[in-house]
Amino acid sequence: MSTLQYRLPQKRCLVTELPGPKSTALAARRRAAVGAGVTSVLPIYVADADGAVVVDVDGNSLIDLGAGIAVTSVGASNPAVVAAVQQQVARFTHTCFMIAPYESYVAVAERLDALTPGDHEKRTVLFNSGAEAVENAVKIARHATGRDAVVAVDHAYHGRTNLALALTAKSMPYKSGFGPFSPEVYRVPTSYPYREGLNVDGSPFTGEQAAERAISIIEKQIGADNLAAIVIEPIQGEGGFIVPAEGFLPALARWARANDVIFIADEIQTGLCRTGAWFASEHEGVVPDLTTTAKAIAGGMPLSAVTGRAELIDGVHPGGLGGTFGGNPVACAAALATLDQMETLDLAGRARAIGETISKRLQVLATELAIVGDVRGRGAMMAVEFVEPGGRMPNPAATGKVAAAMLRAGVIVLRCGTYGNVIRLLPPLVISDDLLAEALTVFEDAVRSAAA
Ligand SMILES: *Cc1c(COP(=O)(O)O)cnc(C)c1O
Repeated sequence: MSTLQYRLPQKRCLVTELPGPKSTALAARRRAAVGAGVTSVLPIYVADADGAVVVDVDGNSLIDLGAGIAVTSVGASNPAVVAAVQQQVARFTHTCFMIAPYESYVAVAERLDALTPGDHEKRTVLFNSGAEAVENAVKIARHATGRDAVVAVDHAYHGRTNLALALTAKSMPYKSGFGPFSPEVYRVPTSYPYREGLNVDGSPFTGEQAAERAISIIEKQIGADNLAAIVIEPIQGEGGFIVPAEGFLPALARWARANDVIFIADEIQTGLCRTGAWFASEHEGVVPDLTTTAKAIAGGMPLSAVTGRAELIDGVHPGGLGGTFGGNPVACAAALATLDQMETLDLAGRARAIGETISKRLQVLATELAIVGDVRGRGAMMAVEFVEPGGRMPNPAATGKVAAAMLRAGVIVLRCGTYGNVIRLLPPLVISDDLLAEALTVFEDAVRSAAA
């Protein structure tokens, strides 16, 4: 990390209560101008951000353990990304790749074709958002197979457009009131070792058992011949940082391959070094047919991609894929700089080190405190699931207390989970050891007071 220079001091420093007066004034303007359906985790308004700190309009400096939902892995204003964006924006901001193409789009595709799992021939198409990538992956799978049905799993999150919502599991706040949803989407159980699929002796299903359960439902209720694709997050993000039991993903992928079903890995949150590898699928040697990426890919600029088997993606008729902004040149320049930074700074290795630090400290909490039900995750994608003491009943109240105490202390954390009882830690991968240690101390204090 010695090569990384931070522009802003990497420290936590509160000069007002949160929110301060300027943020409070902005909140009032917002209420009169911005739709209430868009909410914010933080009551503060941002003036500046760099590395793993966010500075608000009142001059408070907060530690960021959310990275804008796993986006700013290379830091909030990484100098290499900033320079690449500045240079590109001064040349041209848009031509539309479908009208007048440019090199950076091609270069991003080359990089993703090489980085994603598997050494077979691949192709990439670029889009703007994660949801758009997921929709297009499904389009490609349906086109390639001539089949309609798509399977998603319990606790899944794939975005907020209509087809993505059909794939997403949780009603509130994502789906409620927004139907009807895209048809021919089916849901099957996943592997959630802490909560679901318990054998009669109370032991969790193995990965193979959980896969058999899902496959049996697919075969009985849908029929492999009707199924175009299985869409799955290798580690479920929004659903609660659920790491499936070992063997679950490989078994599903094997079954998909044997039945000509397209296996789509949604690596939008897990991809690009977050879990300690370029892609989370690699941890179990899974080679997806199609992989979706977004979030961390362009250092905060909006960009997403579908990458996968050349014959599937090239099978789509000319003009069948695209969009006005997809693969915008400024976003592509940012992506190339971001991928360079991930390589140069070995951010996958850094993610593994962050994960070790976090889990060492949180495992101690788990043995001491009854409200800490489960500590899980991979690399710099770690989470704590809070429960009622003496059992596994979800404890969203304690979770809320922990999150609120951390915010008061100046540390940004995000909640997740179907039961609202999970706090996820996904710091920028460039966070300094000192800042991470300090944030974890704040977390431990917050959990201890919530348990008291
Ligand atoms: C965030 C996310 C999406 C949706 O991405 P948007 O850019 O918000 O549309 C899809 N899948 C996963 C796994 C995500 O984490």
